[in-house]
Amino acid sequence: MAKSSLLGYPRIGKQRELKRALERYWAGESDEAKLLATGRAVREASWRVQRDAGIDLIPCNDFSFYDHVLDTICLVGLVPERFGPPEPEVSFRTYFAMARGAPGIPALELTKWFDTNYHYLVPEFDAPGPRFASAKPFEEFAEATAILGRPAKPVLLGPLSLLLLGKRHTRPLVEHLEQLVPIYSELLERLARAGAEWVQIDEPVLVQDRTEEELQLLRRAYQALGHVSTRPRIMLQTYYGSLDDASWDVVTGLPIEGIGLDFVRDDENRALLNRHGFPQGKVLGAGVVNGRNVWRTNLVEALEKLEEIAEHVTPDRIWVQPSCTLLHLPHDVRLETSLPEPVRALLAFAEQRLEELVILTRALNEGRQAILEELERNAEAFRVALDGARLYRRDVRERLAALTEDAFHRSSPYEVREPLQRARFQLPLFPTTTIGSYPQTPDIRQVRARWRAGKLSDEGYWAFIRERIAEVIRRQEEIGLDVLVHGEFERPDMVEYFAEQLEGFVLTEHGWVQSYGSRVVRPPIIFGDVARPKPMTVEVSRYAQSLTQKPVKGMLTGPVTILNWSFVREDIPRREVAYQIALALRDEVLDLEAAGIRVIQIDEPALREGLPLRRSGWPEYLDWAVRAFRLASSGVRDDTQIHSHMCYSEFNDIIEAIDALDADVISIENSRSHGELLQAFQDYQYPRQIGPGVYDVHSARVPSVEEIVQLLEQALQYLRPEQLWVNPDCGLKTRRPEEVWPSLQNMVEAARRLRERYMVAAH
Ligand code: GLN
Ligand code: ZN
Repeated sequence: MAKSSLLGYPRIGKQRELKRALERYWAGESDEAKLLATGRAVREASWRVQRDAGIDLIPCNDFSFYDHVLDTICLVGLVPERFGPPEPEVSFRTYFAMARGAPGIPALELTKWFDTNYHYLVPEFDAPGPRFASAKPFEEFAEATAILGRPAKPVLLGPLSLLLLGKRHTRPLVEHLEQLVPIYSELLERLARAGAEWVQIDEPVLVQDRTEEELQLLRRAYQALGHVSTRPRIMLQTYYGSLDDASWDVVTGLPIEGIGLDFVRDDENRALLNRHGFPQGKVLGAGVVNGRNVWRTNLVEALEKLEEIAEHVTPDRIWVQPSCTLLHLPHDVRLETSLPEPVRALLAFAEQRLEELVILTRALNEGRQAILEELERNAEAFRVALDGARLYRRDVRERLAALTEDAFHRSSPYEVREPLQRARFQLPLFPTTTIGSYPQTPDIRQVRARWRAGKLSDEGYWAFIRERIAEVIRRQEEIGLDVLVHGEFERPDMVEYFAEQLEGFVLTEHGWVQSYGSRVVRPPIIFGDVARPKPMTVEVSRYAQSLTQKPVKGMLTGPVTILNWSFVREDIPRREVAYQIALALRDEVLDLEAAGIRVIQIDEPALREGLPLRRSGWPEYLDWAVRAFRLASSGVRDDTQIHSHMCYSEFNDIIEAIDALDADVISIENSRSHGELLQAFQDYQYPRQIGPGVYDVHSARVPSVEEIVQLLEQALQYLRPEQLWVNPDCGLKTRRPEEVWPSLQNMVEAARRLRERYMVAAH
């Protein structure tokens, strides 16, 4: 009989219990016992939900107090020396120090997990060890098994992924791997002794381009693990994409019992299966239900996939699964009470996925006639939704279809615009600016909450926001910044703010998804054609500009970032959705310009994370992403200055695309990357202006004038003085005012010093 199986479950808690418990613990308002108890309660609730839904293979060890890569780091004892002498088992104190840093001790680097908006902590392979240093998998296995009354399926991040996601390797990879494998072997043995029948080992790195050498490492690791004498059966799980011929060949030849594949993301795994068949006797984990998006599964289509798979594998060796862990989905649609019904009917969050898996498994086992009623209900939901939702906007479609190439180009090239802008703005050498947001102090959140609850009038709220804008403009003038911002006090979130005002989007109340640790985001849902009923930012920008002679930047979130940080409809290509958003933003840009705004910044912090996991997909993505940005930005006059901002410094790969954005000025993260970023400019003659961040906004520390000067001097090794802007790494929203103002003061002073030096040099 086919079985239903899950790869992992959301772990923040249905009411965000874990978030709250973590924050209380960090603030010293609770203790370890309380935090542990919340963790147990969250796990128990998720196991019960899965059991009651009828899932056959229920994961354990998919829970984490912060991040599952950090858990794996602890498991194999890769604790860097700066966190103190080795402990027999890594303590909470060390665990959270690695996650968040401790006084004088920098945290592990935090970075994006594949192409998701989840972040993981980067393993450092120059740490002492590895050694066995955590009992978490056994404890959670015992816990789950007690609750389920049968063995759960422990989930582990595999050795190859751990190795390749890490940094600071000190020896050839094969030597690091040889040290990891015994730890994994022991783990398998101990899990078997504890009663585990299956273990799921995740190797998501296999859906990226891998070299022959890396595939050899895979073979080596799993040859060893496969031959551990007492061990559970191994399901080698891949997700977020497909294998290719080379990795298929290696993976199907390993001495393991199961292979888990994603059949949702693209069609390649299906093609591979049809081309090569599937090895006799192994279990195929068939990911036919989407773990990355919130739309209900079309059951007929999923069933067709399963039936095709069943031509190669007998049903008793098929596990019906989501395409990946459900970590990226909110918990439960039923908590949403204010969504328009036709949209709600189309949604499935984690809990709804369980039901889909069980239905599909039954269909595979008993035939379609066993689920006729469910199929009918499923089809009906799509019918209702498609009729009822405002999916299709003829005006938007027609405008897009009528666009000519001109709409994607500024009227003149940069070389023509640059002198016009120089003459218009009369900025000094090394102009200073900030990225947009200023601290969102607790009183702002409180006032907004009161307004949202109807306890404060619209006038009251906007009067309060205007006061804040006036204050931040005054202070920016006082310290002598050159290009000002209004502070973004009216924006709880840079995507949500626009999603709320654009048609085609809905916002959920409880659709929280973990970003990392206690950080959660609530992505908007794009269900229909996107349109802008009215200007979104013009009033605040106009007001801010009325208070000063200096240019105030109009601030917008870019089309690619809005897209990448939302759950996106799947009935039309992503590219098309990006263009629709871009068109709405283009109108906003032109309205800002007409209102007297001379500098407009369109942030694209998420442009890079949308890159396909395989390089072969890059050109196509970058092409439409760049075009979407240009569609949004290029309608302006030559002497209107377009800025963009990006939150990363790994630039080398995409510098041509960045250049192709044709933004007059870009700001980028830099202060923590130790000039790594600037290397990109060694080999590439970047013609435009750029502000590499000189103030690390992820730290409470106030950078000194000297440090900032030094960072700027570093940048000047690769950039001409006329190209260089002076700004922080990112927005200042999460910082405290007492850190921000002294830091900016130092930044302005650093620019002044540098100006003196370069003016003298120029004379
Ligand atoms: N303008 C935004 C801000 O300053 C940019 C944030 C971001 O890049 N993530 O908050
Ligand atoms: Zn940023």
